[in-house]
Amino acid sequence: MSDDTRILLVEDEKVIRDAVAAYLHRDGYQVTPVGTGTAALEAFHSEEPFALVVLDLMLPEISGEEVCREIRKTSSVPIIMLTAKGEVDHRIIGLELGADDYLTKPFSPRELIARIHALLRRSRVDGGMKDEMISYDGLQIDAAGHRVLLDGKDLDLTASEFKLLTMLTRYPGRVYSRMELVEKVLGYDFDGYERTVDSHVKNLRAKLGDDPRTPRFIHTVHGVGYRFDPPEPPSESEAEVTK
Ligand code: CA
Repeated sequence: MSDDTRILLVEDEKVIRDAVAAYLHRDGYQVTPVGTGTAALEAFHSEEPFALVVLDLMLPEISGEEVCREIRKTSSVPIIMLTAKGEVDHRIIGLELGADDYLTKPFSPRELIARIHALLRRSRVDGGMKDEMISYDGLQIDAAGHRVLLDGKDLDLTASEFKLLTMLTRYPGRVYSRMELVEKVLGYDFDGYERTVDSHVKNLRAKLGDDPRTPRFIHTVHGVGYRFDPPEPPSESEAEVTK
């Protein structure tokens, strides 16, 4: 298994590259920063395995899209794409390019780090450490034991509610469309069933004691779907990376 702390960072804008590298470094990661797709593929194929790749979509010479496809020929390493607003249909990033997650610029470094943690945790879980307990602000999810605890108390969730919750918590902050949740959680793809997701969310919220108007965990993204966003632990304020 690869070293859990090695990250390949591909970003052509030096200011962003340096800022992100500094944050990752501060969080305990070993970062290999590169500025082109060519350098990214060279580093990827010649150095020790990376645990994760942060990949800008718009790069000179070889685009992030091509880099992603190239990496996917030989590796299932987690990839987070950095995109600009409106640059690409976000569903394409996952479905066609094979990236695991994406962030739209401007993003906060803290959010990037949260996504990295979530992806690495998932790849560890997929890699065999399935007994790991995932915790967010009083909410504990034991995927292997099919148990969810809220403030230490067992929640009695249906299979669909459990799936929905584990899907949403996989990438905190990521917005899931209703359609996506229907496909991934319920496993069928008729428009009419999008309302089924709403009722599962409603029931799940009731069990979590989550008020949709002032949500602690599950936020409604109007016209789109839902995202899981637990309260942030207190930390120093951070500037946004803005380009
Ligand atoms: Ca760029």
